[in-house]
Amino acid sequence: MTSDDPTIINQEPATPVRVRRGTPQTFYDLTLDELTEKLGESGHPAYRARQLYHWAYQQLAPDYDTMTVLPKALRDDLANELPLTQLEPVQEIQTDDGETLKLLFRTHDGNHIETVLMFYPDRVTVCVSCQIGCAVGCSFCATGMMGLTRNLSTGEMVGQVVAAARRTQELDRQLTNIVMMGMGEPFQNYDSTMRMARILNDPEGMKFGARRITVSTSGLVPFIDRLAADPLQVKLAISLHAPTDQQRDTLVPLNRRWNVQELISACRRYVDTTGRRISFEYCLIRDVNDSEKTARELARLLKGLLCHVNIIPLNPTPAEPSYERPTEDQIKRFADIVDDSGIPTSVRYSRGVDIAAACGQLRIEHEGGTEPATT
Ligand code: SF4
Repeated sequence: MTSDDPTIINQEPATPVRVRRGTPQTFYDLTLDELTEKLGESGHPAYRARQLYHWAYQQLAPDYDTMTVLPKALRDDLANELPLTQLEPVQEIQTDDGETLKLLFRTHDGNHIETVLMFYPDRVTVCVSCQIGCAVGCSFCATGMMGLTRNLSTGEMVGQVVAAARRTQELDRQLTNIVMMGMGEPFQNYDSTMRMARILNDPEGMKFGARRITVSTSGLVPFIDRLAADPLQVKLAISLHAPTDQQRDTLVPLNRRWNVQELISACRRYVDTTGRRISFEYCLIRDVNDSEKTARELARLLKGLLCHVNIIPLNPTPAEPSYERPTEDQIKRFADIVDDSGIPTSVRYSRGVDIAAACGQLRIEHEGGTEPATT
C-alpha cells in the first residue's frame, strides 16, 4: 500500500456496474465516482464520498458508527441502504506457527468462501477467492470437484481484502500483496475481478499498487488479450502444469478449448504489449508431468518468453487420490533442467498444508511466488 506507487491509476472500468442479481449491493461494490454520484443524489457534497473512502479503506473502519467525523444521519442512512459488507466471519484457522491464516466467511446466501493470509518476513499476501466453486475442473483441485455455484460480486472480493488488511493490522503488520488464486477462475469473473483491483488501487482508498495484485488464469485466452490492453498494470500468472496438449487436456480440461500453443501465443502477445513478466505455475505430479523429457519440453515451450516458472510439488487432495508428490530428487532434477535452459525457475512448497482447504491444490499455487516481494 504505497501512496506514491506509479502503478496506481484512478480509472473507471470499461464495463458498467454489474452486481449479480440477488447479491445485495454494498459499499465495497462502488467506485469512488459511483459513491460520489449516489451521495450527490441525496444532496451530499463530493467530499463526503472521499471521507467515506478514507474511513473504509485507510482507517479500515469495521462499521459506519466508527466514522465519527460524518453526520449521524448520513451514517444511519448508509447503514440501512449500503452496508459496508455482507460477509460474515465464521472461522479462523491458523497454521505454520501462525504464518498462515485461513479466514472463512459466510455469504449473504449461506455459502462459504475462504481467504488466506500468508505472512512472510518481508511481505504479507492475501489470497482471494473470486467464485463459489469453479467450473474449470482441474483434475488435481479440490474446488474443481465442487463445480460452480456462482461468481462473487466485486464487493465480496473487496470485502475479503479489507477483512484481511484489518486482521493483518491487528497483528502489527501491513498487507502488501494480493493474489487472485483462491477458489475460482478469475477470468470467468473478469469484470468483477478487475473492478475489485480498480477500487483497491484508488488513491483515495487503499492505494494498492497494481503490480502488487496478481491475477491468475488456467488459460482463458481472450481475457489474456483483454488484460494486456487494460491500463491497470496488474500481474499475470498462468496455471500451466503441462507443456503438451496430451498432458494438459487431462490436468486442465480448459485446454481442450484453448490449447497449449494458443495459450503460449497469447502469453507472447501479452509480454510484447505490456513488457511485463509472466509467472507460470507448474504443479509437479509424480509420473504424470515430472519426467526429464517433460522438463525439456517445458523449457522449449517457454524459450524466449519473459517469464518465471514456479514448480509446486503436489499436495495430494481428495480430487485425485492416485496423484502423488514426486521425490525430492525428482523435483530438483525437473527444476534444474528448466532453470539450466535459461528460464528462471523456483521450487515452492505450501506452508498451509494442514489447513482444510476448499481449494486445496491452488493453495499450493498461492505459495508459488507469483506476487512480487515488497520493495
Ligand atoms: S485449479 Fe483453479 S481453475 Fe482449476 S478447478 Fe481449481 S480453482 Fe478452478
